Amino acid sequence: MAKAKPRVAFFDFAGCEGDQLQIANLEETLLDLLEHIEVVAFREVKTGDEPPYDIAFIEGSITRPQDEARVKEIRKQSTFLVALGACATIGGINCLKNFHSEAIYRTQVYGDRARWYDTYPARPVGAVVKVDAELHGCPIDRSEFLRVTKELLLGKRPWIPDYPVCVECKEVGNICRYDLGRPCLGIVSRAGCKACCVTEGATCWGCRGLAPHANLDAARYVMEDIGGFSREEAQDLMRLYLGWTQAPL
Ligand code: SF4
Ligand code: SF4
Ligand code: SF4
Repeated sequence: MAKAKPRVAFFDFAGCEGDQLQIANLEETLLDLLEHIEVVAFREVKTGDEPPYDIAFIEGSITRPQDEARVKEIRKQSTFLVALGACATIGGINCLKNFHSEAIYRTQVYGDRARWYDTYPARPVGAVVKVDAELHGCPIDRSEFLRVTKELLLGKRPWIPDYPVCVECKEVGNICRYDLGRPCLGIVSRAGCKACCVTEGATCWGCRGLAPHANLDAARYVMEDIGGFSREEAQDLMRLYLGWTQAPL
């Protein structure tokens, strides 16, 4: 009898579903992947949901009371639970609302229908249930998703870079944004994206979260004393993705 394939599920909470789209768009490798796993829930591409799950990937932040019950039930049904993308791993841009009063964010988003909707301050998935692994980015990197999934299926602890984006930025030979008079959070953000935003002419906003042991004092010195940016400008940049961390930059 053929051995049962690992049962893999994808779920979305508050987010744009861009991470799931990255997976649905794995055109060149999707069929190979499906030879090794059984997808038992993935609302973006199929109907149905058949627990239990060997691996549950969770996209999005927890922003409503009913999200908590749902994610806890998924946790109960899952051997491994993986947070997928910045909204799930670090709260991401959803946490911008946390810097405003509930009255402000409710009416600015829902207008005169605010009372129709439940909402409260955004949290990453790990603030509500135990998370076994995290896939960072906004959106996630497809090749990293494949590697981490393979490592989980092999029973290995997934490897995620623990050094800052600057390392990869130097490897690809970018001119530092600070030399161009622009701020950049690559100095404190977790690598793994090959500094793609800088390479494309933008700057790093920190969507992969803070690198472990990020030196925020040094970052403050670089932004203010070398870059000439104000404390408010530094904080605005930090809040875009890193608001949940409350990093005192
Ligand atoms: S992390 Fe980015 S791509 Fe993923 S759901 Fe959130 S906003 Fe969308
Ligand atoms: S600060 Fe930004 S632009 Fe400069 S090296 Fe680091 S990642 Fe690259
Ligand atoms: S360069 Fe920064 S903002 Fe862009 S993907 Fe990497 S961590 Fe995210």
